[in-house]
Order: sequence, then C-alpha cells, then structure tokens
Amino acid sequence: MIRKVAVLGSTGSIGTRALEIIEACPDLELHSLLCNSNIDLLMKQKKLYAPSVTAIASPGGVCPDGVITGQGILEKVIDGADTVLNAIVGSAGLRASLICRDLGITLALANKESLVVGGELLRAYITAGGVIPVDSEHSTIFRCLHREPRPVRSITLTASGGSARDIPAWKLQTAGVDEILNHPTWAMGARITVDSATMVNKAFEVIEARWLFGEIKIDVVVHPQSIVHSFVRLEDGSWKALMGKPDMKVPLQYALQYPDRILEVISDDCPLDWGTLEFSELDRQRYPAFNLVVRAGQDGKSWPVAANAADEVAVAAFLAGKIRFGNITAVIEEVLAGHKACEISDLETVMKADRESRFEAERIVRRLC
Ligand code: MG
Repeated sequence: MIRKVAVLGSTGSIGTRALEIIEACPDLELHSLLCNSNIDLLMKQKKLYAPSVTAIASPGGVCPDGVITGQGILEKVIDGADTVLNAIVGSAGLRASLICRDLGITLALANKESLVVGGELLRAYITAGGVIPVDSEHSTIFRCLHREPRPVRSITLTASGGSARDIPAWKLQTAGVDEILNHPTWAMGARITVDSATMVNKAFEVIEARWLFGEIKIDVVVHPQSIVHSFVRLEDGSWKALMGKPDMKVPLQYALQYPDRILEVISDDCPLDWGTLEFSELDRQRYPAFNLVVRAGQDGKSWPVAANAADEVAVAAFLAGKIRFGNITAVIEEVLAGHKACEISDLETVMKADRESRFEAERIVRRLC
C-alpha cells in the first residue's frame, strides 16, 4: 500500500533527507510540503517532487502561485496524509503534533520539543502507538524494544559530546559560532548543533525518552564516534543496541515506513570502518545546562516549557553574535529561577508559559548584550 507523507519543515536538514527517502522508496508518496521561510528551496522542492499541497509559514513578501500561507495551513498540509513527518524547529512544532493526535494520523516525530513542552498532551497518543520517534537515539530504543518480551532494566542514551567536546573548559565560555557549528559526527541544523554543544539537546532527549518509554531508568554516556545510537539494558543483564555510521536517513526511513518495510539500503559500512569505540561518563560540570534542563523535566508542569523557551531565545542570540556561548546557560538558569510554574492542560497553557518565558529571556539577553 502506498503511504502518503506530509513533510513539515521540508527545507531543513531532516526535511531534505526525508524527501530523498520518499523518492527512493516505492511505498512512500509525498503528499505535502511545509517550510518556515526558505522560499527558494521550497519552490525547487515543489517543482521536483510535485506535492498536492505546498505551504510556507513566513513567506516574507508575496506568496507565489500554488503556495498557501496564513491561518489554517497546518490543517491543510496534514489533511489527507497517512503519515506526518514533523521536523519543525522548536516549540512551534507542538501544534502540528496535536493536530495529528486529534485526527489520528501517524506522527513521525523529529520535533522533540513537542514532547519537551507538550508531552502531557501527547501521552495518550503515544500509548495508543500514534507516535514513532525519528530522533536517532529514540528510534534506536524504539527498535530495541519492538517485540522484546524480556523486561527492561534501563535505557542509555549516547551523546557525541558535541562540537565543544575538544575545546578546553576555560575557552568554552567564549567559543565562537563557527567553532560551535562544526559538529564532529552529525550534520544537523544550527539550533540542534548548538544544543549538542551545551548538552541541552541531550537533556531534552532524556525528557523525550521519559514520555516515549515511561518510567524506565535513563542514563547518558559520552560516545564520541556516534556509531552506537543508544542502548537498552534488559533485566537479564544483556544489552541491545543499534549501530552504524551516523545518518539520519536510517531513523527517518524506519519511522516513515513503520511497521511495513520495502527497504532501501542507506549505508554499506561495516565494523572495520568504525575504528575504536569509546565510552565515558558525562562531565556534568562541563555541561551545567544539562543538569538544569533535566531537572526542569523532572519537575514537570511548565518547567520544561520555560527551559526550552529560554534556550531557543539564547541560542538565537548566540547565533546572531549578541551573547557569548557561556551566556546560553546563564539565560536558562535565570529564566528558570524566576519562572512561576503552572499545570499543562492544553496548547494554550503551553503557549502562555512559552510567551512569558521568551519575554523574560529576551530581557536577560538585552542586558547581557
Ligand atoms: Mg538525537
């Protein structure tokens, strides 16, 4: 059966790879495209892949013929799809995930913020099997748990250490944008690359894992080669893992085709290509933002919403050259210190906490500039 896929965030790093997979797999068909603002690439994609619906959130001028924008575009892009790939960046992705939940459409989730800020709202949909993770670590765990009858003892997320791992601690505070964006193993978008350097990304992934896999013990281990994409430890003491050269096409293909497969071979690497595999403990002093964000996740309510909003604002300010790398953690810490947490009951409560925390983060950034 042909599966129609909506690609949300089509011009980003995940979106462009997804389009290549959809084209290569005969059981997948592109239904629609949505991007934020990269109109030139969107028009190229529209011409190349001929989707039924093409949409842009921020056209920044006149919207071209055959492209929709404005209110209701998410609904129009999602309507009629069998699977929605949500690769929108940031908490802005939550609304799309909730539409999938309401319509009962399978959600291939690359937007981890949907779970960081709105996990509570997606809980029942996850339990019902509506959410297939695309994040490489979570895809790995999902695969390791699939049809695994033995009880699970713990999950171990692997972390490459990010682009800042070889920068001495004393220089890290003032590391430049170019240094930070130069990720050693994964090619990704700008925000997630900065989040990997602060380990905020890994803290988000701990929160994401808790929503996806329940109250299982979660550890993090640094693995610079990014060959092992996470572990599951079973009650009998044995370990399961998924290995291979880091390529987001692997988890993408799995999520888009799950549970049916007509596979395309993505990589033909073998263990001899991998070299030495190293594992070490996460240095929590070197990555203070990791602790802050994991703690926010444990505290629940709107704490992770505040942490994410602060991080989005701080990372944008760092990428714009307004604040130093070390300031990102300071902004998160100060926003959390002043946050008055509320229960998350619907999208509006998330967006209210998000707005207030962004406002506060922007005020702090202005002071730091
Ligand atoms: Mg990941």
